[in-house]
Amino acid sequence: MPPDIACGRLSDDMLARNFADAHPGLTAEQAALEADRCFYCYDAPCIEACPTDIDIPRFIKAIASKNTAGAARTILQSNILGGSCARVCPTEILCEQKCVHTAIETHKPVRIGALQRFATDWQMAQPAHPFKRAAPTGRHVAVMGAGPAGLACAHRLAMLGHDVTLYDRHTRPGGLNEYGVAAYKLADDFAQKEIDFLFAIGGITYRGGTTLGETVSLATLRQEHDAVFLAIGLSGVRALGLPDESIHGVQDAVAFIEYLRSHPLATTPVGRRVVVIGGGNTAIDAAVQAKRLGAEEVTLVYRRGEATMSATEVERDWAQTNGVTLRLWAAPIRLETAAGALTGVTFRRTDPPPLSGTPPLAPPAEFTLGADMVLKAIGQVFIPDPIARDQILVENGRLVVDEKGRTTLAGVYAGGDCTAGEDLTVAAVRDGREAAKAIHDDLTLTAFSLSGTGAP
Ligand SMILES: Cc1cc2nc3c(=O)[nH]c(=O)nc-3n(C[C@H](O)[C@H](O)[C@H](O)COP(=O)(O)OP(=O)(O)OC[C@H]3O[C@@H](n4cnc5c(N)ncnc54)[C@H](O)[C@@H]3O)c2cc1C
Ligand code: SF4
Repeated sequence: MPPDIACGRLSDDMLARNFADAHPGLTAEQAALEADRCFYCYDAPCIEACPTDIDIPRFIKAIASKNTAGAARTILQSNILGGSCARVCPTEILCEQKCVHTAIETHKPVRIGALQRFATDWQMAQPAHPFKRAAPTGRHVAVMGAGPAGLACAHRLAMLGHDVTLYDRHTRPGGLNEYGVAAYKLADDFAQKEIDFLFAIGGITYRGGTTLGETVSLATLRQEHDAVFLAIGLSGVRALGLPDESIHGVQDAVAFIEYLRSHPLATTPVGRRVVVIGGGNTAIDAAVQAKRLGAEEVTLVYRRGEATMSATEVERDWAQTNGVTLRLWAAPIRLETAAGALTGVTFRRTDPPPLSGTPPLAPPAEFTLGADMVLKAIGQVFIPDPIARDQILVENGRLVVDEKGRTTLAGVYAGGDCTAGEDLTVAAVRDGREAAKAIHDDLTLTAFSLSGTGAP
């Protein structure tokens, strides 16, 4: 059968419905009822579990007392991307997992994410920005990469009175918030609305279409600015290592999602039978979005069991309720082709070894899934090429930083996915905020600058 990859499998109406906001916001009444469930715990475990240390009981109490402005301020002063984090954070493994309600009620934590969205959405509908800039410091910082880490760093630096030039190779800022996260999590162009809100602080100049290592070097940035923050994320994707991997129909899941996030849905091609290979949130997002674009069969195949999948249980349930079939313990060994076209993927079962004392399993069986499209989601990697000429330490595939976000090169800081850590939006925001504080301290308290002789 010839491969069947096509655009517009569903009507515009159906596509609009499939990609609408997956979890619409709470009404004021719902928010008040939910806020009333909070115990306002002393030493609240939910705060401990939030990478950006939002004072959760404080903002929930503000909502309960109808002080939505105060709630928003509490959230945004810790996490300026609190609106997108409210939508994309896996709260089930962060704040909500630790909520004391899970221990004493029937596993229903306070809906912290939904309440956070309620407060930040209110704030973003107001005409004025909630924070003011400090007096100008006369210092200028380059932020390279306009994803969550770069945006959080730029905003905090601007608040502290520094001038910031925010560079990115893409024309639009936002990083994976704009090009990676599933469309139904950040519906209605939310990523750009949040950036407009964030830029309203002033003092941030955006220069899209600037590629580190191509149109500008780190050496030039160091010469032209008082400090540099690198937030260039992970630009590479792992390959399956199979022959014919470049054949039409075999695509990186991240590229597939980027295409659908930056083009009209009706012009995004999708196969009739799609196989997604991987076990993380990228695999889940690619599989669900392929299904919602109109693919008839979507199978997600992961080489081990559920316990080692990085996709959370909530994400796995979401995939299954969206009609995605999960097949575990199988690894791809061959792409099947006919007349130069993709027809399927053959897998070998990778069942765990039998427990001692039980008879050995039969030799690993193989099975083939027919496919017009194969989406690879087996991990992203940091590509060090843009900084290859600079004396900056990369270890275990990530930029090395100290606890303040300083790299080994004087005046150069880094954070987000390009450094070691959780690879979550909220962790990138924390890194950007913390690096901004360190840059501020280093520039103002120690009068350090790039013209100096080394990192303080
Ligand atoms: C498909 C997908 C779905 C995800 N879904 C979720 C989710 O639901 N929830 C969650 O918490 N996390 C999710 N994540 C992870 C989250 O998006 C990242 O952890 C977060 O975006 C990291 O932020 P960052 O700023 O470090 O990097 P990025 O968001 O990757 O931003 C890096 C920026 O640097 C730019 N850049 C790269 N190289 C250069 C260069 N040489 N020159 C100039 N600019 C450059 C890029 O264009 C980009 O704008 C997802 C990731 C993927 C891939
Ligand atoms: S742990 Fe739960 S109940 Fe306690 S403060 Fe946090 S959200 Fe409220």
